[in-house]
Amino acid sequence: MKRRKEVAQIPVDICRHAIIVGYGRVGTILAENLRQKDIPIVVIENTRARFKELAKNSFRSIIGNAVNKALMKLAHIDCAQTLLVTVPNGYEAGQIIEKTRSLNPDITIIVRAHYDDEVRYIRERGANHIVVGEHEIARTMAHFLSKKKTVGCTINNNDDNLLSGTKDLDKYLKPDASN
Ligand code: AMP
Repeated sequence: MKRRKEVAQIPVDICRHAIIVGYGRVGTILAENLRQKDIPIVVIENTRARFKELAKNSFRSIIGNAVNKALMKLAHIDCAQTLLVTVPNGYEAGQIIEKTRSLNPDITIIVRAHYDDEVRYIRERGANHIVVGEHEIARTMAHFLSKKKTVGCTINNNDDNLLSGTKDLDKYLKPDASN
């Protein structure tokens, strides 16, 4: 059987940074947003296709499963300021948080979740902020109720949004090369 070639990790030399776990629908937007704010970041992603995309977009990145403590050490978790966990599975996120807390008790941890039982699990493992996707959808839909009808179509177009207006629609719907 033919074995796949190992992908070499590129060492990152960084401190007082943010670590993003996952470079999918959430992580890509977040990484771009932090770059625009000049916040230094390292992204940990476990698929080759998304990892290649990170390199193409010139982000410091590490390939592998963020549950693995060795990878967190490569990302300099010991001196990072923030961990942003964007993976969709709350239980996997909980494991990542638990390992991270043991390596850096003071780091601020922000986590994505979807279900109530996940929220409990994540909170118990030491997250500082939990963002529940469905709550954000409801909040933004309610926000549009108070708005006048506009020309064209907006996406998440509230005051502190990440993607706004029709000009971003094309970018958001661009086919993903990894698919
Ligand atoms: P999305 O749900 O579209 O925001 O994508 C989530 C991203 O997180 C995908 O690119 C996954 O490959 C990535 N991911 C999921 N679990 C892990 C993990 N344990 N470590 C690193 N990346 C992960």
